[in-house]
Amino acid sequence: MTARTPVAVLGATGTVGQKFVRLLADHPWFELVAVAASGQSAGRSYGEVVRWRETTPLPSRIADMVVQRCAPPLDARVVFSALDADVAGDIEQDFARSGAVVITNTRVHRMDPDVPVVVPEVNAKHVDLIDLQRRERRWSGAILANPNCSTAALVVALAPLHAAFGLEKVFVATMQAASGAGYPGVASLDILSNVIPFIGGEEEKMERETAKILGTLGTGGVVPAAFMLSAHCNRVPVIDGHMEVVSAGFRDAPSVAAATQALSGFAGSDIVRELPSSPTPVIEVELRPDRPQPRLDLDRGGGMAVTVGRVRPCTLLDLRFVVLGHNTIRGAAGAAVQIAELLKAEGRLA
Ligand code: NAP
Repeated sequence: MTARTPVAVLGATGTVGQKFVRLLADHPWFELVAVAASGQSAGRSYGEVVRWRETTPLPSRIADMVVQRCAPPLDARVVFSALDADVAGDIEQDFARSGAVVITNTRVHRMDPDVPVVVPEVNAKHVDLIDLQRRERRWSGAILANPNCSTAALVVALAPLHAAFGLEKVFVATMQAASGAGYPGVASLDILSNVIPFIGGEEEKMERETAKILGTLGTGGVVPAAFMLSAHCNRVPVIDGHMEVVSAGFRDAPSVAAATQALSGFAGSDIVRELPSSPTPVIEVELRPDRPQPRLDLDRGGGMAVTVGRVRPCTLLDLRFVVLGHNTIRGAAGAAVQIAELLKAEGRLA
């Protein structure tokens, strides 16, 4: 691999931004050269303005960095965006126009027809959509997105099942961690001893993004996968980790054994398997009846593995199971870093 690629983080002080900083602090392929946030933080040292919530210490080199404004140039080839969605749209486009490759966690551009939503093990080929994007938008940079945090774990579990047996219907009910709402997020008096059966826009995002990610890339863009998906999203008093109960109906209904084999054997292409952030295995299938659990199983594969358990027949559809994914790693910062690794491995960051 060639020299380390300079990268920057927008929204570096937030929940996802801090995860980026931790994952990039010591990355073999990338060098964190700039951190940026709102005007309130800009101009002060990162260590002074960040309310560091990670369990590993903040490296002094990064603590001493002066927080920049979220405007180009930041002298970075790749710009990771962990911005508040309300402000991200124009800022991300400004960076793409300036020639940077933007990989965003925000929802703003995910459903743009020329923006790929990439999960390297699932749809690495969709990266090609940036060629169309560059032609249409006449910019030399690019915008790519990782999925919403609840979609990220779900699509990893669905991808091998869809490929092997053809999904027709999916029902999913989520139990989503408090950290999914950022910091300070949901007020403690609202979430402790409670479940909130509403996360604004989340169900629509799961339904649309899943179809796009599992869709087929054609000459004019992505043709969404045709199966139906019904999502019920809930916020629960868990700090990290989104758990999802799923029922699925198929064109060719698999046995439990065949489904389990498809899940546990799932792997990306050769190039994806070798990326520093790619977990092995991608899906850990749990046979213990009371797993997965967020507190016990969240950090598998450095937070990039998805755990699937309780695979069993379903009385309504064909199969049911439980999915667990780390919302700020597989569902956010780790996912975006893995996309950047894919671009670098494919020679697209030269
Ligand atoms: P957060 O903790 O609220 O952090 C928001 C960040 O945006 C902070 O760094 C903040 O900087 C910055 N910001 C706010 N207003 C700004 C402005 N006007 N100009 C420039 N920067 C500004 O949010 P988060 O949970 O990390 O989420 C960040 C993004 O990732 C959101 O779009 C979210 O939907 C998405 N996401 C989150 C998760 C998750 O699990 N949390 C998962 C997937 C995707 P200051 O500190 O200076 O205000």
